[in-house]
Amino acid sequence: VLEEWLDGRFPPATPREARSRLLVLAGPTAVGKGTVAAHIRDNNPEIHLSVSATTRAPRPGEIDGVHYYFVDDAEFDRLIADGELLEYAVVHNRSRYGTPRAPIDAALAEGKTVLLEIDLQGARQVRAAEPSATLIFLLPPSWDELVHRLVGRGTEDAEERARRLRTAKVELAAQNEFDHLVVNEDVATAAREVVDLSTSSAR
Ligand code: 5GP
Repeated sequence: VLEEWLDGRFPPATPREARSRLLVLAGPTAVGKGTVAAHIRDNNPEIHLSVSATTRAPRPGEIDGVHYYFVDDAEFDRLIADGELLEYAVVHNRSRYGTPRAPIDAALAEGKTVLLEIDLQGARQVRAAEPSATLIFLLPPSWDELVHRLVGRGTEDAEERARRLRTAKVELAAQNEFDHLVVNEDVATAAREVVDLSTSSAR
């Protein structure tokens, strides 16, 4: 599958349902998931972007409660023990990340569409917990472009970049598990394609 993808032959995704109100956006490191999700948050008030809990430290400019809920290990353990997370995973062999369940239930009850921007392990857990969820995989225009973006953003050292690229290969190989593939050539276009997959964008 990875070789096919590297050749530029994208296997067609099989939609489970035409639309759903729980959207999961996943994809390899540095593909721009966060940028696409932020673009949707800023332009589509009818879509609720889930704020994850994480044990990693905030980066400069990140705001608690907006970008993540920054929690310590003890609090993360408590969230798991109390069943407050819809899914959770250790990402890049390092920090823990999880999706708080209550805000999602509240947004769905209000009739909103909910968007989760999470990793592959999380996407699989959501699929198991909520089979009607729509799983969207964000692809880079090419492998070289992915490497270029990862190096270009300069937030990881060489060892961490190598680790993330290994993870990216594994993640790319799982794209067939997803309902839809969206290529992130241009952020606004990719965001529009994701929004168009939600029920709130009835045509
Ligand atoms: P970063 O530390 O760069 O913000 O995020 C690293 C990775 O964690 C990204 O691939 C992101 O999709 C993933 N991630 C963020 N929040 C969650 C979450 O709640 N659950 C899971 N499984 N992954 C998450």
